[in-house]
Amino acid sequence: MTEKEILEQAKGIFPKLQKLRRKIHSNPELSFVEFETCKFIQNELSELGIESKVIGNTGVVATIGKGNQCVGLRADIDALPIKEETGLEFASLNEGVMHACGHDMHTTMLIGAAEILKKNEDSLGGIVKLIFQPGEEKLPGGASILIEEGVLENPKVDAIFGQHIYPGESEGTISLNSGPVMGAPDELYFTIKGTSTHAAQPHLGHDPIVAASQLIVHFQTLMTKYKDPIEAGVLSITSIKGGNSTNIIPDDVKLMGTLRSFNEQWRTEMHRLIEVNSKAVCELYGCEIEIEIKKGYPPVVNDEKITDLTINNAINLVGEDNTKVFEPKMWGEDFAFYGKNIPATFWFVGVRPKNLKTMPALHNSKLSPSENAMPIGTAMLVTAAINYLKG
Ligand SMILES: [Zn+2]
Ligand SMILES: [Zn+2]
Repeated sequence: MTEKEILEQAKGIFPKLQKLRRKIHSNPELSFVEFETCKFIQNELSELGIESKVIGNTGVVATIGKGNQCVGLRADIDALPIKEETGLEFASLNEGVMHACGHDMHTTMLIGAAEILKKNEDSLGGIVKLIFQPGEEKLPGGASILIEEGVLENPKVDAIFGQHIYPGESEGTISLNSGPVMGAPDELYFTIKGTSTHAAQPHLGHDPIVAASQLIVHFQTLMTKYKDPIEAGVLSITSIKGGNSTNIIPDDVKLMGTLRSFNEQWRTEMHRLIEVNSKAVCELYGCEIEIEIKKGYPPVVNDEKITDLTINNAINLVGEDNTKVFEPKMWGEDFAFYGKNIPATFWFVGVRPKNLKTMPALHNSKLSPSENAMPIGTAMLVTAAINYLKG
């Protein structure tokens, strides 16, 4: 099958893709409780004559074809705790839960790819492993759990491909790049402990509000004076809570924030610096500090060889003009875990309607991606599998 033929087949199943996507969109489920979605996927695969099994409680894994080589295709299936405000006729029926990251489309496109691959099973020259992964949006990430449960073994997966919808580019485009494409997001929690006193007698206590304020400012210095300017990274304090009156210096202040990075070495060094500097700054004010750094996903780093292959696939499917360079983002994505084990690449399917210059971002309650992008994403998955197995 040529890329053109694959795209034609994907366009041919558009009405089905649309129906599936709308069904999934109406019935979103949160991370790690995707029980109905899981059943729905198994049912669709079974109608295509594909046997599947449950992995990691709410994930689904299946294979198509036979041979020595095995290529993985991954879609995430979970939704977010967001109240949908799109006004779509197929909007969420599950109040307060919404497919606001496009995982409804990811799931649909992988089912679509399964249909085309199954039809061409005899000529695949290898095995395609379909991975419908739960819990992308929540630590520790469904990918890490599935890997622990052996999703990359039996048969052993040689390389893996994944995709995400991308509101930053219009429908009809594919964006991708070798190397780091998404950052490692770590969660930061601080409790600064002082000694409460009357606000008119600050010398009798230790003021955690002043210590917290100095610390927040100091963190900015960490980013400008300790970080190599060439290195990408961001440290943002996103929450500050402490005190509830005008005349009392409180006992403690709580801060929350995020650290995002691409480079694992720098990330580890930052964790150390945050610890050392936080303690030193608080000590100046007679305060103590408790620090919790919850490590998020690793950075997503696209393997050069299979990314080159994928860029070629994209050019053949959507043309050179519509194959864009993806500018790395500091979003987190648990697809990163696969890439730590085997060659992996992750691309972005443009979903901005052609007539719009901008659209709501991922995780926005008004996100409404163009469904026209689905045949392209489906064809990208099929092409990735077929061309990889061709060698
Ligand atoms: Zn998301
Ligand atoms: Zn996502």
